Amino acid sequence: MLEQAQRVLKDIFGYDSFRGRQGAIIERVASGGDALVLMPTGGGKSLCFQVPALLRDGLAVVVSPLIALMDDQVATLEELGVAAAALNSTLSAEQQRDLAARIKRGEVKMLYLAPERLVQPRMLAFLQSLEIALFAIDEAHCVSQWGHDFRREYLQLGQLAELFPNVPRIALTATADKRTREEIVDRLHLQNAERFLSSFDRPNIFYRIVPKEQPRKQLLAFLAERRSDAGIVYCLSRKKVEEVAAFLSEQGFPALPYHAGLPNDLRAYHQKRFLNEEGLIMVATVAFGMGIDKPNVRFVAHLDLPKSLEAYYQETGRGGRDGLPADAWMAYGLQDVVMLKQMLQNSEGDERHKRLEQHKLDAMLSLCEETRCRRQTLLAYFDEEMAEPCGHCDNCVDGVQTWDATEPARQALSAIFRTGQRYGVGHLVDVLLGKDNEKIRSFGHQHLSVWGVGKALSESEWRSLYRQLVARGLADVDHEGYGGLRLSDSCRPLLKGEVTLELRRDLKPQVTAKSGSKSQASQLVRGEEREQWEALRALRRKLAEEHGVPPYVIFPDSTLLEMLRSQPTTLADMARVSGVGARKLERYGEAFLEVLGGEAEAPKVVADVRHELITLARAGMTPLQIAGQLQCSEKNVYTMLAEAIGKQQLSLEQALDLPEELMGEVQDAFLDGEGELPSVAEVAELFAGRVPEGVLYCVRAALQSEFEM
Ligand code: ADP
Ligand code: ZN
Repeated sequence: MLEQAQRVLKDIFGYDSFRGRQGAIIERVASGGDALVLMPTGGGKSLCFQVPALLRDGLAVVVSPLIALMDDQVATLEELGVAAAALNSTLSAEQQRDLAARIKRGEVKMLYLAPERLVQPRMLAFLQSLEIALFAIDEAHCVSQWGHDFRREYLQLGQLAELFPNVPRIALTATADKRTREEIVDRLHLQNAERFLSSFDRPNIFYRIVPKEQPRKQLLAFLAERRSDAGIVYCLSRKKVEEVAAFLSEQGFPALPYHAGLPNDLRAYHQKRFLNEEGLIMVATVAFGMGIDKPNVRFVAHLDLPKSLEAYYQETGRGGRDGLPADAWMAYGLQDVVMLKQMLQNSEGDERHKRLEQHKLDAMLSLCEETRCRRQTLLAYFDEEMAEPCGHCDNCVDGVQTWDATEPARQALSAIFRTGQRYGVGHLVDVLLGKDNEKIRSFGHQHLSVWGVGKALSESEWRSLYRQLVARGLADVDHEGYGGLRLSDSCRPLLKGEVTLELRRDLKPQVTAKSGSKSQASQLVRGEEREQWEALRALRRKLAEEHGVPPYVIFPDSTLLEMLRSQPTTLADMARVSGVGARKLERYGEAFLEVLGGEAEAPKVVADVRHELITLARAGMTPLQIAGQLQCSEKNVYTMLAEAIGKQQLSLEQALDLPEELMGEVQDAFLDGEGELPSVAEVAELFAGRVPEGVLYCVRAALQSEFEM
């Protein structure tokens, strides 16, 4: 059995060996047993049911909660030459009938379905009339009523056990905790399933948390090492998402915003572009998440603190699914702590709920102030013990300096107390430093005993100290939301001199930038390899566009990287590259060999402004952003865009970022009359103040070029 499985792995998927427990899981399911699989994101869950599906007779049925996830997997399987299909609401009635007929004829090997589809009585009856190879239930944690992703329909999947007693079932999830695990077993009737638990460590992710000083500058410094990498930047609010996306674009980093306040189609469009294009940055709220299967997300950056370690781990886990180095980077400061504590205090919900949330936030904060290995701390939180420090996080690499902060901490707390427990950190620090300003004078704070006692420390050291006091719960944030600090009960022993306090010494940002922000992820491709790497990516992009799939469906980065390093010169060499299966070898082998051999035309170096404009537009920048990038007027950009559209070098969708409806309206305005297209001047009035005139030029150019075809 295992031998057969190995052959499928190599022939179809192009991989040499199973990862972790894949082999055992596949053996279990292929021989008819049930399985519960817990594996971290990127661990390789898909193969655990795809290989047994190919080894067993009949149709494999895969339950998946999101259309985007299904489409991605189906596209990937089709590229491998496996007959897969998704049955969902995007198919017309006729397409559904066709698909059913193909299934009846045994022409489909794997069928992806949403749970609500599967449990329809008609569907169940249909499946009972067929030979079923297995049921795979992906994202099985959706049965958990306590989780974020609860899906009521998942509860009904338990009946599969009774309806299909002889068909093996495999449930898979990346959610770690024990309670969820037991719920899955219980609800899905998987009492007989063998359990396969993997470590939840993501060894390829490098964790770094830096003190927040000038967050945008810090983010730019971080990104500077990662040009042309795809990544996600998480922010707390919609407004900030928009601002940061605009800022990054102005700075020459193609970035798109994503949050729940954007119109649905625009949001879907941005998501699609993130998946389909390379080197795009998604600036997003937590709304961006599930269904993001893009394997080559090279970094996840947080500009605001997540509310819990669960959220942090899930969000950072979206980086590096392909197993190549990825970075999790976060800038964290006092303001984050104040804001989240206030949100918590003012949130709805009973006391028990608040306590739970408080507990989670505290765990998050202690990771930020942690002086030991970040990974050990993270895994410990998820009940997994790691014997040694990881050697692959900021604390391990840079080391952490601590200092005895007992006396300054007392002074800081005393400043809170003496000023009446209502001022924010800015004022408290001014008092400690003995500043002589209007606010101090108007309250008479220059007469306090604490005034000017803290000159031994700098302003930023005091801020860091206050942040750590709040993070450790030694000081509290006011309920009113002004950011004032109060003493908390737990600071008493410190004030009384009964305990001492060791705190983390923040590194100066410059030091951090120099010594450590450059991690492996940014050095994936070395300078001298760049040109060939870009050529390989360009070919992949071209093929992806031709096939209408995301680039990573053609080949993952890891495969391109291996080509780059092993420099195959024959098809036989090429077949040995991991990720090159029989079908892909046949389809793409030659083309990639040509690029490697330097025979194919290298991708053109961006020579003139027009060329660059096209690249930027394709990379998703808006005209305004492009104008910033090329340092010319927006009007000029529109003129050049219209020209490129006229020459069919760009599509209208690539050039403009207009909601579909508005786009339709503009097009209609041009198409309304008879005969010749009206001039821009003739329709301009209709859209005055709604769309820039340049948009009209672009739309007209597109229509004109269509007519000329
Ligand atoms: P998960 O669903 O667990 O997040 P995937 O199934 O998407 O992970 O797999 C992540 C990546 O690892 C994919 O690109 C997949 O092709 C690759 N992969 C999985 N198993 C292997 C293996 N045995 N050898 C090499 N690559 C693998
Ligand atoms: Zn570590």
